[in-house]
Amino acid sequence: MRAAVFVGSEQLAIENIKPADPGPQDVVVEIQASGVCHSDLSLARGYVPLPPGFVLGHEGTGKVVEVGKEVSRVRKGDRVIASFIPACGNCWYCQHDQSNHCDLESETAFSPRGTREDGSPYFAMTGLGTFAEAMTCNQHSLVKVETDVPAEQLSLIGCGVTTGVGAALNTAEVLPGSTVAVLGCGGVGTAVIQGARIAGASRIIAVDGQPLKREQAKKFGATDVVDPAQGDPVQQVKDLTQGRGADYSFEVVGLPETMITAYNMARKGGTVCIVGMARADATVTFPAFQLFFEEKRILGSKYGTAHVRRDFQRFVDLIETGRLDVSHMVSRKIKLDQVNEAFRAMEAGEVIRSVIMPG
Ligand SMILES: [Zn+2]
Ligand SMILES: [Zn+2]
Repeated sequence: MRAAVFVGSEQLAIENIKPADPGPQDVVVEIQASGVCHSDLSLARGYVPLPPGFVLGHEGTGKVVEVGKEVSRVRKGDRVIASFIPACGNCWYCQHDQSNHCDLESETAFSPRGTREDGSPYFAMTGLGTFAEAMTCNQHSLVKVETDVPAEQLSLIGCGVTTGVGAALNTAEVLPGSTVAVLGCGGVGTAVIQGARIAGASRIIAVDGQPLKREQAKKFGATDVVDPAQGDPVQQVKDLTQGRGADYSFEVVGLPETMITAYNMARKGGTVCIVGMARADATVTFPAFQLFFEEKRILGSKYGTAHVRRDFQRFVDLIETGRLDVSHMVSRKIKLDQVNEAFRAMEAGEVIRSVIMPG
């Protein structure tokens, strides 16, 4: 089976790998589509330390082709979206309405999945490894959906859509009539914009240095755009919000500098939502007096605070009724061996999402 494997450098290698026989809790999924997310590139660049031998890809959809003996969640033939954090339903977090912190996460992320051509074991990013023709994963990493939405759109629910729309609806709980600033308008930022639009925000300000992304942001619901090259972006956002700053600001870049910018863009008493994935060794410094004085709420948002068993079908339904536009988030459909080109296009700001169609 062909897969794109992290071998210690930014360029992924297309290898023939041999999956192990599925365990009792495992499911084999034929991958129909897999989005190329910025987190894949971040891992390839070593932002989060990872040994070589990981199949990357964590945003995918496909069809169940084989199930282990104890699998009860899905059946052969089911259409599924992969959840990059499993939701076991039984651990403390799952039982306290926070399945995006499920205890199974680290266990599934570091289990060997089979052997590479040289005989060494391979692992799979977040226990998935969707940059492949098929994957073997734990049953709790899969959510069955009922829909005819095309695979390339469904795949984005696995990460970008859920992370972004979820940040607006679940984490920040954007209120109707409110003002929202979004820093970084790639795949996830675009989804935050759409989440804010669905929530009924009156003003959605898209902040991005790339002209193409600002243009696209408008199509997804941004009412205003800010180009940081045209002067202090914080002041530009304040100018658009009666001098106060936004009710909600979202950082969707993953850099300490933009986290501070997002903090400064929120009004007093407003909400700052950190969605971007920073380097594991990065730190950010907030002004101590203002933390108290301006009373802003700083919220981390992991996987859009999603309950995947509830939210995946919910997002599918929003796509089906035309309220959530994922079709225009899919910029390119590509083959597995074009994954490195997809990284380049992402960096160049040419695409919102490239989606690998391995079949
Ligand atoms: Zn992702
Ligand atoms: Zn759990």
